[in-house]
Amino acid sequence: MKALVKYAPGNGNLDILDVPEPPCGPDQVKIEVAFCGVCGTDLHVMHDTFPNYPPVILGHEVAGTVVEVGEDVADARPGERVAVLGATAVTCGHCEYCRSGFFIFCRKRRGIGHGVNGAFTRYLVARPDQLYRVPECFSLAEAAITEPFAAVVQAIAELTPVSIGETALVSGPGPIGLLALKLLVAEGIKTIVAGAPGDGERLEAAKRFGAAAVINVGERNLAEAVRDETGGRGADVAFECAGHPASVRGCLEALRPMGRYTQVAICGRDVEFPIDTVIFKQLRLQGSITYTANTWDRVMKIYAQGRIRFEDLISVKLPITDWRRGFDLCMDKKALKVLMYPV
Ligand SMILES: [Zn+2]
Ligand SMILES: [Zn+2]
Repeated sequence: MKALVKYAPGNGNLDILDVPEPPCGPDQVKIEVAFCGVCGTDLHVMHDTFPNYPPVILGHEVAGTVVEVGEDVADARPGERVAVLGATAVTCGHCEYCRSGFFIFCRKRRGIGHGVNGAFTRYLVARPDQLYRVPECFSLAEAAITEPFAAVVQAIAELTPVSIGETALVSGPGPIGLLALKLLVAEGIKTIVAGAPGDGERLEAAKRFGAAAVINVGERNLAEAVRDETGGRGADVAFECAGHPASVRGCLEALRPMGRYTQVAICGRDVEFPIDTVIFKQLRLQGSITYTANTWDRVMKIYAQGRIRFEDLISVKLPITDWRRGFDLCMDKKALKVLMYPV
C-alpha cells in the first residue's frame, strides 16, 4: 500500500513509499482509512522540530471503517465507522499519569504519525480501546477532525470555566481557533475572534461560524477592540490559539480583572509578557495539551446531539500523493482544514 513515510531522521526525508499492509494481530482491529487531517504537527515532523522515530508513516487525525477484527477482540465489528485515538498507541499503562487518565504525560508514550505508523495510507491497526464509534449523522470526513476538536473540548469544556453571559476571546483563527469558536458558540458564549492581517479568509469564516465580532489586529488594537465589544469591561476568558508572542500579550491585556487565560497553541519559543498583569488583574493562567479518553467520550456525545458540524471547516480533500500541496495549504494559512485520503 502507498504511504507517506518519514524514512530517515533529519529535515525533510518524506516521500510516498510502497509499504507492506499491516497484519491484524489477535488483540487488534484493522481500519481502512477514509480521511486523515493535515496538522501543524505533521509539518513539525517533516522539519524534525517534533520528536519522531523513522521510518514512520505520518498522519494522526484519522477516521475510517473497521475491516478486520482480531480473534480475541469482542467489542468491534467489521463495517463500524470509527475515529481513532492514536495518541495512546504506546503507553506504559501503570505510571501515575496512565492510571489517572492523563496518558499524555506518560514518559513511554508514543502516538501514531510520529512514534508509530500513522494514517496517511490505506490501512492501520489499533487496539479496540482506541476506537470511538462515530454517530450516524456524522460523516467520516467530519470525524477525521475529532483529534483536534478533542483538544479544544479539553481546553474549553474541561479546563476553563466559562458560562453564558460571559464574553470569550479566541486569538488565532486557524483550525484550532475556529473549532474553539464553534464549541463556544454551541455553548451559547458570546465569542470574539482575533486574527493577523494574513488571516482575512479565516476571519470571514469566523463570522460565518457565529463570531460576535472579528478583529484584525493589523487594523485595531486588540485590547481596545475587545473593550469596545464588552462595554469597557474586557473579556472574561481568553483562548490563545495563535502561538504568537503579540497574541499572548494581547490576550492578557484584553482580559478583565479576575479573567481566565488558557494557552492552547504552541509558541515554539520563549515569550516575553508582563507577569505583573497576572497579579494586578488576579488572572488565572492555564495550559491545555491534548485530551484524555474521557474527553473523546464527551466528543462523541457532542456529535450525537448534532449541534456542531464540521463540513464548512473542510476546505480541501486531496489524495495522499498530493501531500506537498496539502502541507503547503496548511502552511499558507488560507485553507481552513485540509484532509487527505488513501490511494
Ligand atoms: Zn494534529
Ligand atoms: Zn505511563
